[in-house]
Amino acid sequence: MQTIAFIGLGNMGGGMAANQVKAGRTVRAFDLSADALIRAKDAGCTACGSAAEAVQGADAVITMLPAGKHVRSVYASDILPNAKVGALLVDCSTIDVESARAVATLAQEAGKGFRPADAPVSGGTAAADAGTLAFMVGCAEADFADVESVLEPMSRVTIHAGTSGAGQAAKICNNMLLGISMIGTCEAFALAERLGLDAPKFYDISSQSSGQNWSMTSYCPVEGVGPESPADRNFDGGFATDMMLKDLRLAKEAAISSGGVTPLGGQAEALYAALSEAGLGGKDFSAIMEMLKRGTVKP
Ligand code: NAD
Repeated sequence: MQTIAFIGLGNMGGGMAANQVKAGRTVRAFDLSADALIRAKDAGCTACGSAAEAVQGADAVITMLPAGKHVRSVYASDILPNAKVGALLVDCSTIDVESARAVATLAQEAGKGFRPADAPVSGGTAAADAGTLAFMVGCAEADFADVESVLEPMSRVTIHAGTSGAGQAAKICNNMLLGISMIGTCEAFALAERLGLDAPKFYDISSQSSGQNWSMTSYCPVEGVGPESPADRNFDGGFATDMMLKDLRLAKEAAISSGGVTPLGGQAEALYAALSEAGLGGKDFSAIMEMLKRGTVKP
């Protein structure tokens, strides 16, 4: 039986760790939050007193933490000094590409045969609870099959993106595109309305024409149009604006450090920052529709 150490049992990690337990694995869990640790214990995890204690003897160490600085710190002070020789070290947090590559290098240089992987996810808390996340993985080719097997109880699909950092690169490029396409979709619906075009009629036309995209046909930002989405429940649930903002900022950092040019990504970041400053950071990111319809956002 595989022993998994799981560090970071928040909105995402809590459900993910529970799915490891359901798959029959021993899960040694740690979170700074006592409440999160109690919930993990109730789900069948072994609650540990520290991350250093949790990783001891584990075949794989999974982290699901807020940002790069948390991952760097837990790797340096707890995981690398205490994890077992040859352990798989799988970070599922969404963090900057630079931090992902830095912790992978530290792991490889630790001299203990560690096998690091960055494996950020697509899918929110519902997918984390249901075990249907999509993972994009950056790791050595030779380690991918083992990473995939560790992630299996939490996943719908796992794709090898490339070497260290490639998973994070795929994640932020995908989410930058999603942020941009959502804004474009909202702008089109808002303008259609101003021009007197019925929203369902515009959906019928555009969803079968060249403007068609996922933000429109799977996640339509207009109430009562397309399949059910957060727009049908006052933009509650779904993917929070503040999370989208985090990913757009990561994309901007990555563009700056790699010399890339992402003008629309920058515009999208500014618009989501305005939405967050307006107090709507907890609403689904498609709530940008409301700002555009009210005309409170200027081009
Ligand atoms: P969260 O804030 O709910 O959970 C993070 C957990 O990490 C918290 O419980 C916190 O106490 C714990 N933590 C922080 N520092 C720690 C440390 N040093 N040691 C142990 N525990 C520590 O966040 P979340 O929503 O679960 O997101 C986690 C990651 O997943 C983030 O990187 C986020 O961007 C990414 N993500 C989230 C979603 C989503 O819908 N929530 C979707 C995709 C990706």
